[in-house]
Amino acid sequence: MKFRTFTIVAIGALFFSFSLSFSQGSEELSSLETIKKYREVLNTAENPGIIAGAHYKIGLALEKLGRETEATAEYLKIMINYPQISDAGKKAEERLAGLYSSFSKRVKELVKRDEAALGEKDPRIFFAYTKSLYENYRNLGRYDRALSALKWLCNMDPENPDYLIDIGDIYLQGYNDPDKAIFHFKKALEISPGNPKTYVDLGRSYEKKGDYENAVNVYTKAAKASPANPWAIYGLRRIDGIRLAEDKRLVKDWYFLGPFDNSDKAGLKRPLAPEEKIELKATYAGKDNPRLKWFRPFGYDDSGYVDLNLLFKPHDYVVAYALTYVWSRSDREIQLRFGSDDGIKIWLNGQEIFNYDISRPAEADDDLVITNLSKGWNKILIKVSDTWGNWGFYFRATDLKGNPVEHLIFDPLKDDRRVEYIYGRFAREKRFRLTRIATLYIVAVSVFLTGLYFMVSNIYHRIKINRMKEDFISSVSHELKTPIAAVKMLAETLKRGKVRQDGNKARYYDMIIRESDRLTRFINKILDFSKIEKGEKVFYFEKENLVDLTKTAVEIYKDEAQDEKLKIQFNAEKDEILAEIDKDAILQVIFNLIDNAYKYSKEEKVITINVKALQKDVRIEVIDKGLGIPKGSIERIFDKFYRVERDMVMGIKGSGLGLSFVKSVVDAHNGTMTVESKIGKGSKFVISLPVERA
Ligand code: ADP
Repeated sequence: MKFRTFTIVAIGALFFSFSLSFSQGSEELSSLETIKKYREVLNTAENPGIIAGAHYKIGLALEKLGRETEATAEYLKIMINYPQISDAGKKAEERLAGLYSSFSKRVKELVKRDEAALGEKDPRIFFAYTKSLYENYRNLGRYDRALSALKWLCNMDPENPDYLIDIGDIYLQGYNDPDKAIFHFKKALEISPGNPKTYVDLGRSYEKKGDYENAVNVYTKAAKASPANPWAIYGLRRIDGIRLAEDKRLVKDWYFLGPFDNSDKAGLKRPLAPEEKIELKATYAGKDNPRLKWFRPFGYDDSGYVDLNLLFKPHDYVVAYALTYVWSRSDREIQLRFGSDDGIKIWLNGQEIFNYDISRPAEADDDLVITNLSKGWNKILIKVSDTWGNWGFYFRATDLKGNPVEHLIFDPLKDDRRVEYIYGRFAREKRFRLTRIATLYIVAVSVFLTGLYFMVSNIYHRIKINRMKEDFISSVSHELKTPIAAVKMLAETLKRGKVRQDGNKARYYDMIIRESDRLTRFINKILDFSKIEKGEKVFYFEKENLVDLTKTAVEIYKDEAQDEKLKIQFNAEKDEILAEIDKDAILQVIFNLIDNAYKYSKEEKVITINVKALQKDVRIEVIDKGLGIPKGSIERIFDKFYRVERDMVMGIKGSGLGLSFVKSVVDAHNGTMTVESKIGKGSKFVISLPVERA
């Protein structure tokens, strides 16, 4: 205390004691005069001691006049305004205590007196007594008696809704019986419909009952009837809050605590949460913390902006808290991004993580804090200040790159069931995503493997073809060389005149012709094949007798082979089996098949040839008892250049083109071909050709 203040107070206290002793000695002054005199003192006095003394004197005089309520006010003024004058304060306190005890004694006396007066016949006196009785019972907390007094009053003055409202009030406040309260408030509304206050009372009763639908109805009526009435609006907001709190699916992200009246700026210095525990239920009821005016949960839209404008009047000077819990499935680093129009302070799990001086009205628009969330629930408490109204704050949790964080659950109720529900959904989504990813992977891998397979087999095939081509060239040169060498040798022998006998000469000429024919046929075969390959081969289809054609092929072959071991059995079902074919091409085909049967026979070369007529097809079968074809090769013998390894090892001549040519010709006739073969036992080639071309 500064010296100057101390001196003033000391002088004042002295004066107070002096005036006290003086007044006690001058009882001749009437109470009214005393009051008048000290009121004048109060008009001019500046010394706190003198002022406190004057209030005390006025209080005493009022007491003497039986005006206890006014006396109480005088003593309270001393206690509130001049606490530094402890002497005066103490005396005022003593007087107050005395006044209270005598007051309650008198109320009890009054009740007794009124009860005694109930027998009075004069209705006006009776009414006055009853009213007084009700008020006094109510003050004493004797609700049962207050209620009976009120019921008498209702009977006496049925047009007045006030008694019904009072009855409702006692049921609601005193007995906690909202049903009976509702009944009486409704009755009051029947008498005076549209009374906004009654609607608000009715709303409170419904609220207490938990019947929010009806509460909202009546609050809405009250708000319409009297738009200036804040209680109806508060009621609506409160219900909105309760509903959101009860319907956990609707609870979004934050609870709002406040606003706290901060006109004295003390709110900023008050050590509120998290230093002080804020429990939601306590917060809602406002019981444990009277500084909380109301709370209101609210959601925020996608931008994360929390609009607080609804809650504040412009230019309110307040601080407010927003509380939420965040559930994280793991310890993780997150980035909190937030902003408010004024100051903002943030605690995470009780630790202050950000503080922009909330007492300073300034823009604190956009801030970032990187922090750690622990696994499970994390408490986030935000304190914001406002000096100019028109404000809110925004708050967003993101990963370190600023992307929204999945799997974070904001819930001020710390509702584990909600976590389970939401995580269940996440898990389902994840499972779905995983299945999708797995499917994609499987598809991708299959595509890759298939591609790889085709690539490898393609390469392998090319290598094989190359090898086959090489084999082909050596075979072809072999096939060409042999007849040319034979022709040359025969011609030279003749030229040298070494063959004298005519018969022998003729045999030599025949041999030359045969070899030349073989060469021509071989060259034709290759030329034909290449024509087919290039798509240049033109077929001329005509009705031909297959029996004759096959016979001719057999004859030519036999003639050419000049091999006694060759035995060809020819069977035809009829003499004439007609089909629409290209004669030359089919002749080549039959020739090729007989040639193969001959080439791939063992010592004994027995070949059977059958020509058959079916309903729509003709069939040529070439059967041998030769080497047979290995199983794995059967499918490939129609590929160009393909030759079974064995043949090359055994030195059997060939180009690998014969069967490929055969297949192309048969295809051109829309025919089919089958092969049956057993190693060491022989092979059967069957060609079916349609009798008529489609
Ligand atoms: P090539 O000129 O080698 O005979 P082909 O295309 O006519 O060529 O035949 C392909 C392969 O099919 C032959 O190398 C042979 O191994 C096999 N082949 C064809 N016909 C017979 C048959 N009647 N008996 C055994 N193997 C045969």
